Amino acid sequence: MEQSTRAIHMGFPSLDDSHAAAIAMTSAYDFTSAQEASDRFNGVTEGNIYSRFTNPSVEHFERKLTSLENAEAAVAFASGMAAYLALAMTFLKQGDHVVLASGIFGTTTHLFRQYFGQFGITATCVDLDDQHAWQAAMCDRTRMILVESPTNPLLKVADLSWLSGLAKRNHALLVVDNTLLSPVNQRPLNHGADLVLHSTGKFMDGQGRTVGGVIAGRKDVIQPLKNYLRSSGTCMNAFTAWVLSHGLDTLTARMAMHEQNARKVEAWLRQQSCVKQVFSTFSPVHPQAEVIAKQQTGHSPVISFIVEGGQAAAWRCIDALNLVARCTNIGDTKSMVTHPASTTHCRYSQEEKLQYGISDGLVRLCVGLEASQDIIQDLGQALAASQVKHSLREVVSLS
Ligand SMILES: *Cc1c(COP(=O)(O)O)cnc(C)c1O
Repeated sequence: MEQSTRAIHMGFPSLDDSHAAAIAMTSAYDFTSAQEASDRFNGVTEGNIYSRFTNPSVEHFERKLTSLENAEAAVAFASGMAAYLALAMTFLKQGDHVVLASGIFGTTTHLFRQYFGQFGITATCVDLDDQHAWQAAMCDRTRMILVESPTNPLLKVADLSWLSGLAKRNHALLVVDNTLLSPVNQRPLNHGADLVLHSTGKFMDGQGRTVGGVIAGRKDVIQPLKNYLRSSGTCMNAFTAWVLSHGLDTLTARMAMHEQNARKVEAWLRQQSCVKQVFSTFSPVHPQAEVIAKQQTGHSPVISFIVEGGQAAAWRCIDALNLVARCTNIGDTKSMVTHPASTTHCRYSQEEKLQYGISDGLVRLCVGLEASQDIIQDLGQALAASQVKHSLREVVSLS
């Protein structure tokens, strides 16, 4: 079956004969006998015990995702960060070392440096496209490589099959955060990744209603994560899973529409004189265009651009928007912008911002599903406003 069909039909839970999947809103499950209870607890037979470990609605979502990512199994979590927490708690111990891509989600860097650092786990950050730096960063204590490809907000990509070779030679797990592309546009397991991770409240939900996370991969690497989940309780709830399973029905169609819109907006942005630079994975001048063609089957509608005039101009642009929302999320039907330097990346030092290219004039846009001409019109008037140096009050007091 094609992926769009699997996104709709896989793993339907047999709760009753309703055409739309029902939600399994239950904490616990009945056993027909004391023997059955004992068998389930002892792993002799499969079956539900308690919704902290398994729930039919959560399993429906996990089965869909397993199929979409070409995995053997998947496990859902309370959030994307809970999934990262599970990775470290399950696979790392004191003294271990992790290599992180430098452009990875800011909170992920913070979690590894700040919190796992407390338990003797060290982390090195490496530029995604610097293969020498990756090789130099690996040591005999390196147990995990964590990358996001493409990165947000600068849309750099990692060569996944090359990284997979590096990970295997060093007996480390390669984990790829695929949130920006969704399984429609990239399947990292096909390129040698051991695990693929998603923050599910983004494109999988599609309408920004829920918070959740999921990890997919081979059965032998997912099972230890499930064991951790049973002990830690950072599980996804049934309602969130239900929203996500329905969200996945339209994922293929939405991703295609997002990309179509984003391409139009990007082409328009590149023609604006007050826009100094535009970042996207479909840019014809992307330095890693070959890697992108090799491993992506489509593109993310996350694009970024640098406004002439630094932070003041970027803020004026953001504040002047009427249709496009000021919101630090991605993957919604609604278009959204954020100013990375003062929000998502505010915990980085000025030096790190400079090193990672998070400049003051940088604006990140996630193009939604509104008509592209309406998005462009709103951006047009906001960019015009961004170049007006004096506020009305200043002009009045000057005159
Ligand atoms: C949002 C996001 C996360 C964090 O996930 P939460 O569900 O918000 O905890 C991690 N990685 C990427 C790429 C994200 O966009």
